[in-house]
Amino acid sequence: MSTQLPRRTVITAAALSPALAVGAPAAAQAAPGGSVIRDVVLAVHGGAGSLPRGSITPAQEKAYRDALEKALRTGAGLLSGGAPALDAVEAAVRVLEDDPNFNAGKGAVFNTDAEHELDASIMNGKDLRSGAVAGVHNTRNPISLARMVMERSRHVLMAGKGADIFALQNGLAYTTQDYFFTQRRWDALLNAKNPPPVPPSVTEGQTVGAVAVDQGRDVAAATSTGGLTNKLVGRVGDSPVIGAGTYANSRTVAVSCTGTGEVFIRGVAAYDISALMEYTGAAVQDAAAKVITQKIPALGATGGAIALDPRGRLATPHSTLGIINGYITRDGTVVTRLYNDETPPH
Ligand code: ASP
Repeated sequence: MSTQLPRRTVITAAALSPALAVGAPAAAQAAPGGSVIRDVVLAVHGGAGSLPRGSITPAQEKAYRDALEKALRTGAGLLSGGAPALDAVEAAVRVLEDDPNFNAGKGAVFNTDAEHELDASIMNGKDLRSGAVAGVHNTRNPISLARMVMERSRHVLMAGKGADIFALQNGLAYTTQDYFFTQRRWDALLNAKNPPPVPPSVTEGQTVGAVAVDQGRDVAAATSTGGLTNKLVGRVGDSPVIGAGTYANSRTVAVSCTGTGEVFIRGVAAYDISALMEYTGAAVQDAAAKVITQKIPALGATGGAIALDPRGRLATPHSTLGIINGYITRDGTVVTRLYNDETPPH
């Protein structure tokens, strides 16, 4: 990974609006029509939430940006060698699963029983094949297990013990639960069980996801998460639910969502973006903005998504104050966006 390359930061007028600056929900000022970034081959997210400037140290900022850049360059390297979008999204998500700063793989949050239960899904836009796992305990890279479910089983979604056994049978790295431990997530669990007087200002979301388009103009999407801190044992969010947290169709769009999973499931969010594009001819930025900044908030929750169409147009709408994300364009330019003021709401 090169850290020498300049990082261009995109700040739009919307991101600097007074409403955002005082912390109003982004949805309150959502206008019809979203913004779009062009010529993107791969985008990743590290969760929707709030990351105000000054809330992390320069070293933490560097760690986040380096991880996003590494994920982007890893996936884009595959794409430029002619690999399918599916390979790129899996590789990008693996990088973020291995990074303890994100809530996926190592660094995943704890459930009420102080365990890690991991969810992931992947979808291939070319033929609508997909694979997903929920409540995984001992698989180091759940996104690769999701892909194995897609390619080596006759199923789409596997859960719990059976999924971990399937991983072992197919040669994926087995790990004990302590591998996923980070002090920060442990503290978050203790805080959730016994809330401090002042809630932490930095998001504890940090689910990860990736969307890509390959040289054949096929798209793919992948999402991986530890879910929500202090979730009930057995709770499954939107991330492993095809159509809710993840969706890809090469005729429309690849989408990876982040936010309160229950509402993304009820709103069938990722598929809804694709359906709007398919049935109304909406552009990716308009479809994604409508679902994420209007429909999902109307159901009572906040979150965000990255949505990439086969022509390389990327939308990153969110109704939270921010969404950690990054993208790489056809010419190799990498942009990483962490702070609320770097991420326009739609
Ligand atoms: N959507 C994830 C879940 O509900 C959480 C997140 O995106 O932060 O499991």
